[in-house]
Amino acid sequence: VPAPEAMSFRAEVQQVLHILAHSLYTDREVFLRELISNASDAINRLQFEMLTNQDVLNPEAELAIWIEVDKEAKTITVRDTGTGLTRQEMIDHLGTIAQSSARAFVQQAKEQKANASEIIGQFGVGFYSVFMVADKVTVVSRSFQPDAEAAVWESTGGNSFTVGVAEHAERGTSITLHLKDDAAEFANDWKLEQIIKRHSDFVSFPIYMGERQVNQQKALWRRAPREVEAEQYKSLYQQMTMDYDEPLHKLHLSTDVPIDLHSILFVPAKRERGLIERRIEGKIKLYSRKVLIQEDAKDLLPSYFRFIEGVVDSEDLPLNVSREGVQSNVGANTQSPVQQRIRKTLTGRMHRELNELADKEPEKFAAFWKEFGVFIKEGVATDYEQREELLKLLRFNSTTSGDDLITLADYKGRMIEGQKEIYYVMGGSLEAARTSPHLDPFTARGIEVLLFGDLMDGFMLSGLREFEGLKLRNVDETDLELPGDVDAPEPRLNDAEFSTLAEQLAATLGEHIKEIRASKVLRDNPARLVSDDDGPGREMQRIQQMLGR
Ligand code: ADP
Ligand code: MG
Repeated sequence: VPAPEAMSFRAEVQQVLHILAHSLYTDREVFLRELISNASDAINRLQFEMLTNQDVLNPEAELAIWIEVDKEAKTITVRDTGTGLTRQEMIDHLGTIAQSSARAFVQQAKEQKANASEIIGQFGVGFYSVFMVADKVTVVSRSFQPDAEAAVWESTGGNSFTVGVAEHAERGTSITLHLKDDAAEFANDWKLEQIIKRHSDFVSFPIYMGERQVNQQKALWRRAPREVEAEQYKSLYQQMTMDYDEPLHKLHLSTDVPIDLHSILFVPAKRERGLIERRIEGKIKLYSRKVLIQEDAKDLLPSYFRFIEGVVDSEDLPLNVSREGVQSNVGANTQSPVQQRIRKTLTGRMHRELNELADKEPEKFAAFWKEFGVFIKEGVATDYEQREELLKLLRFNSTTSGDDLITLADYKGRMIEGQKEIYYVMGGSLEAARTSPHLDPFTARGIEVLLFGDLMDGFMLSGLREFEGLKLRNVDETDLELPGDVDAPEPRLNDAEFSTLAEQLAATLGEHIKEIRASKVLRDNPARLVSDDDGPGREMQRIQQMLGR
């Protein structure tokens, strides 16, 4: 057997290794995900090869991944029956081939001071993450090509590696990590099993530890919705979110055309406290070709849907393309056309789903509105593209609806003869809005008024100027022309009494007010404050006031 040959890593790879050696080790466990995803890729490639070529080594071998731990020796071995690597492929793929993405990784890690372990899988250099936990790595492999010899690759993670001839009869790859002292904790079956469940549970080939399969294997979202039981959705949700509550609602969508898209999205039962303030972005896992390529994919749904959690899986996102997408998402906000289509489909379906929920399960929808209505309001203000859809989801309290919540369409259907505008009243709380003196002339005419009692309502109004041709008007505006005939209210003061009162008020209030007028509309309330500024900035001013700015 010839002696192993020593070779140098390419410069970019050396830099990657350097960064890994000096990075913060908060998330080292991802090394296992990277090894498993490589094994899974290799098995996928073999499956594909075997579609047209039966002349492969060990055609009968089970397609699977095996993980073994040696506690004494402090080693972990990950073995697969995938394509394997020839000696030359080892040299190329594990050390010398030019990779523009390696450079991109180095740049990202340096510029953003990003946690290297978090982003490494996205740059086509995932294999090297083994050096976060290992001080020596041995790869023994035999290619599926029947005449290829087995080869061994070894490195201690410096600037070089060796390749030599190996004894390895079976097809596939076996990677042994000699753990660093400070990573000895990983030489533990239980721990590895947890990591597998967390990161690789839905890898589509069995992962064995000993005799036992530890992953679920078949992705729920790739099954036909009618084949999946409620209990399974629940367990998927809990596994993904660590939330012990059941989700409020789920949307399962599985199609191959016109785009390959398999997704399960959950509306949680509760909004986390402070979610709005902390602005946690969507917790959506993005899979492509059975590999988890992003833990929290942004931009697959509009930002107002960021409370939704789940998984999106599409074969149409080739790994490379999605990596590029991921890369650019780190910096600029560009999306591939496939991502845009996915977003459009998911957004449309989610809106449809919520409208159906409102029709068929009003109580559930009410619970949804209570927890997440604030996001819908935010969407109305911020997402022009989806505004029409969002308006359908809005629910309001009104002066005549009691405890029921109504839609804008309900309101429109209940307008009185001659009414051409939608009226709302704003208050610091729902109760304050309900008892506003501005309501007198509306109550007298039997005109329904929407009640706005929270901060978000004012914000929402910046995007809600009208609905189906009907303008929204604040009841405190001075120039409203109300429909319906009512007798003018009886004046309670004569002219002389009024001027005396007005003088006294003017003396007390001084500069705070501009003018005092006898009201022609008040009935049950003695006074109201009106503004002569009806510009659209008024609600925003009000918000600023409430925020104390
Ligand atoms: P990526 O998986 O994104 O290509 P990695 O750094 O994880 O990047 O892996 C580099 C390459 O090494 C892979 O593309 C593949 O060619 C090869 N490789 C790694 N692990 C295996 C394996 N278990 N079987 C066959 N080839 C492998
Ligand atoms: Mg990989």
